[in-house]
Amino acid sequence: MSARIIDGKQVAAQLREQIAAEVAQFQAESGVTPHLVAVLVGGDPASAVYVRNKQNACSKAGFRSTLHKLPAETTQAELLKLVLDLNNDPDVHGILVQLPLPEQINEQAILDAVTPLKDVDCFHAENVGLMVQGRPRYLPCTPHGVQQLLIASGTVVAGAHAVVLGRSEIVGKPMAMMLVQRGAAANATVTICHSKTKDLAGLCRQADIVIAAIGQPKFVTADMVKPGAVVIDVGINRVGDQLVGDVDYGPVSEVASAITPVPGGVGPMTIAMLLKNTLTAARILTKMSGIAGR
Ligand code: NDP
Repeated sequence: MSARIIDGKQVAAQLREQIAAEVAQFQAESGVTPHLVAVLVGGDPASAVYVRNKQNACSKAGFRSTLHKLPAETTQAELLKLVLDLNNDPDVHGILVQLPLPEQINEQAILDAVTPLKDVDCFHAENVGLMVQGRPRYLPCTPHGVQQLLIASGTVVAGAHAVVLGRSEIVGKPMAMMLVQRGAAANATVTICHSKTKDLAGLCRQADIVIAAIGQPKFVTADMVKPGAVVIDVGINRVGDQLVGDVDYGPVSEVASAITPVPGGVGPMTIAMLLKNTLTAARILTKMSGIAGR
């Protein structure tokens, strides 16, 4: 059997088109252009590419986007001041602090300082808490993108056993929380695996849906996948001059019923969901400023 390819590029393009139409309508009704501000500290080449891709997607969908590029030696106080200024700027709707930050910076303190209303990455404890309670303000971009791929591929998630590999705050943990909620692409029975998990391969073999987010090239091999399972590969690993996922794509696609490629799977979805959150933020903040001005 050869798995169906879940084409994240195509699904993301459709979503971005839909979001662009919503942005145009929002603009016509409110006179406001949703504005995402990215903050990039230091010269990490991969981070620069991610930020550039996000900015390009913004401008194509009718958003305003601004980049604050700070030197690698930026201090905690300087970065904190910028974040607080952006929090207070009524023309800014979404704030994205590109990770990783240089080692002299306390990453958590910076992320905590972003006002929850402009936290379009959904990293702030208030937004994570709302999501866990099933009443989200924003949804974390990568897990939300995965859910959209599950929907687009017609995967039955309700009642399925989903095994999430990885427990990071950005991907694994929120992914598992979202799959266990009531709602679309959810209602799953979820197992979370990490580096201390016993018999990870055995657990993986029980999965109807495998979501790999561990940052280990080709970690998920064909013998770890139940025939007919759906495999979503979040991993992006640079091996030589190639980008490979956490899944051994060729052999696993002979066993799975559907699979995401790397690149062209989850990656483009993350950006599309960031745009969605930024539009939501612009809506929320514009409504609030209207109420405050009455
Ligand atoms: P982290 O490094 O923050 O977390 C990795 C997780 O995987 C940890 O929970 C760790 O366990 C677990 N892990 C690592 N090695 C093993 C192992 N051998 N066996 C079992 N568990 C293991 O990574 P992220 O969540 O940030 O990213 C994961 C991958 O997804 C990366 O390749 C990253 O580049 C990619 N990514 C892709 C995105 C996209 O848009 N497509 C967005 C974000 C990330 P423990 O907690 O025990 O240490």
